[in-house]
Parts: sequence; structure tokens; C-alpha cells
Amino acid sequence: MQELKNLLSAKQNVVITTHVNPDGDAIGSSVALLNFLIKMGHDVSVIVPNDYPDFLKWMKNDELIINYSNSKNESQDKIKNASLIFCLDFNNLNRINELGDYISESKAKKVLIDHHLDPSDFYDFKIHDVKASATAELVYNFLIELDSNAVDKDISEALYTGILTDTGSFKFSMSPKVHKIVSDLMIRGVDIGFINNKIYDSNSLDKLKLIGYALSEKLEVISNGNAAYIVLSRKDLKDHNFKKGDTEGLVNYALSISNVNMAVLIIETKERIKFSFRSIGQFSVNEFAKKYFNGGGHKNAAGGSLEDKLSVALEKFLKDISKYSKDLNY
Ligand code: 5GP
Ligand code: MN
Repeated sequence: MQELKNLLSAKQNVVITTHVNPDGDAIGSSVALLNFLIKMGHDVSVIVPNDYPDFLKWMKNDELIINYSNSKNESQDKIKNASLIFCLDFNNLNRINELGDYISESKAKKVLIDHHLDPSDFYDFKIHDVKASATAELVYNFLIELDSNAVDKDISEALYTGILTDTGSFKFSMSPKVHKIVSDLMIRGVDIGFINNKIYDSNSLDKLKLIGYALSEKLEVISNGNAAYIVLSRKDLKDHNFKKGDTEGLVNYALSISNVNMAVLIIETKERIKFSFRSIGQFSVNEFAKKYFNGGGHKNAAGGSLEDKLSVALEKFLKDISKYSKDLNY
């Protein structure tokens, strides 16, 4: 910490980056750190591997975020010229696709701030705690330690967004510290109602119709009622004018069925089949995603992908999960 503080006492060219398909925690913690470091007088950019949902596009200075997938040269230049790179909310450079190659080549000092299991060794400084509810919680602690007075309303709103979304709106098991932090963020000016409205009540009609379709036509329960899945093909998405973020949270409906302890959303994209796993209790979807689907994440929320046809990927999932029917019965 002291070494990092010393570094930050002189002006740095900072790049902040976060995982592919950025979520509320990825964007919230990145924007909070962006605004704080701008206030400290650093030259700061946030580079994300690809686009993120519209319901996150309201935070202060979020228009400064560079999307690598459509600004490759600019992103590569920024990384080349960086003296300090913050890697937020991911544990392995393969979570940022191509961007990872440029970051690993860069001479800049790298700071990992993350709460995923088993980070690989690509950083010079590490702020890591798997017990943290969100990366935003770790960024909060970091910023308070650097300069508590500089954590203003805008920074607090971004941090609150990260904690709100990564705790499933404060539904997951968490430390009482989380509510203390939120209390402090409220004192710093966060309007809880305003942000919840931005995040959860900004649905498009298309998104709701897609949810309705998925629940009525595509939701299946297996494993004697202990697991459930939803499969959406590219055609399903196209038919409902899919936009990024429209399937966010969908897997939780499957998980909310009584006795279902594991749920998955399987989505066909142009390049691959993407899996979003969730569980309740002891079954580790992190282990399951790692073992069979080139993925990982947390014990109760993980993701993965296969470069297969949708039908093949579904068959594989059904075969793999069938080995766990006893383990899922609790
Ligand atoms: P989601 O299902 O919301 O995309 O992701 C759930 C959790 O799993 C998040 O913490 C995310 O960072 C992680 N995750 C999602 N996809 C992958 C993946 O392909 N690989 C790894 N290692 N983690 C993933
Ligand atoms: Mn997170």
C-alpha cells in the first residue's frame, strides 16, 4: 500500500481495465476509480474489452470509457504509454480477450483489484479478497485509505452500483461491513431510489417480452427438480430485438424455482455458446464451469463458454450435469 501511495503521489498515465461483457461492478468500480484519480490529477483512461448495457450508461464521465472492440489503435496507444494499469474485477488476463496481450506486454506497473477466486500472477500489486461482496467494496476501501475527503457523490454512486448489482440487490450472503459501507455512501450523497430506478426500472418492452418468452417457452427443469436451464438461440434473440443487457438477471428466475439449487442460461452468440451458471448453497458452479466449460467465477455465480454448435453444447451440459444429480439434492 505504501509503495502504491508513493507511486500515486506523482502524476501517472493510468489505464483502468475490466472484464469482457462488463457488469455493474466492473463499470461501477472502474468509473469510481477513474473519477477519483482524475481528481488526484492523473491522466486516466478506462478501456473495456467490449460494450456494456445502456442501464449502466449514466455515471459521471462514463462517456470517457473507451470500447476496445471499436477503438483498437487508441486503446493500444494508451496501454503503450501507461505507467500504471489497474485491472478491476477479473482474475486472469484471458478475461479481457485480446486486450490481455497488450496489457501483459506493457512495462507499466499493474494493480489487481478483485474478488474472484485464484487470481493468476500478472500483477505487481494486489488488492484481493474473495470475501468482498464486490470489487467496488475493495475500491471503496482503497479510496478511503488514499483520501476519504475526495470520495464525493459521483464516486459514491458508482461504488454503490457495483455493490448493489454484485450482491443481487443485497440478497446474497455478505458481511455486515457491506451495509456500513452503503450507509457511508448514502451520507456522501447517494440517492438509493434514483440508482435503483436507473438499474432496474429502465427495461425496454423488447427485454420484458424476451423474458416472458424465455420463461414460458424455454425454461426447463431437470435433475429431479434440482436444476433448471434456459437456452436462447440467435434467432430467439433476433426475434426479440436483443440488445446487450437484455438477458441480465434472466438466469435468476430459473434459480428462484423452489428446490432448484443450480441454474444455467445458455446463449448462442455469433462466436461461441456462452454459459451463465448460478447456484444456491454448497454446489460450486465455479468448479463446474472450470471443469467442463473453460470458465470460472465465484462459488455461486460463474460463467463459461464453448466453441460448439448450440445443440452440441446443450447435449454436453445435460450430460455433465447428470453426473451431479445426487450432489444437487439438498
Ligand atoms: P455472468 O454469468 O454474469 O456472465 O458471470 C458470473 C460470474 O462469472 C462473474 O463473476 C464473471 O466474472 C464470471 N465469469 C463469467 N464468464 C466467465 C468466463 O468465461 N470465465 C471465467 N473465468 N469467469 C467468468
Ligand atoms: Mn464483481
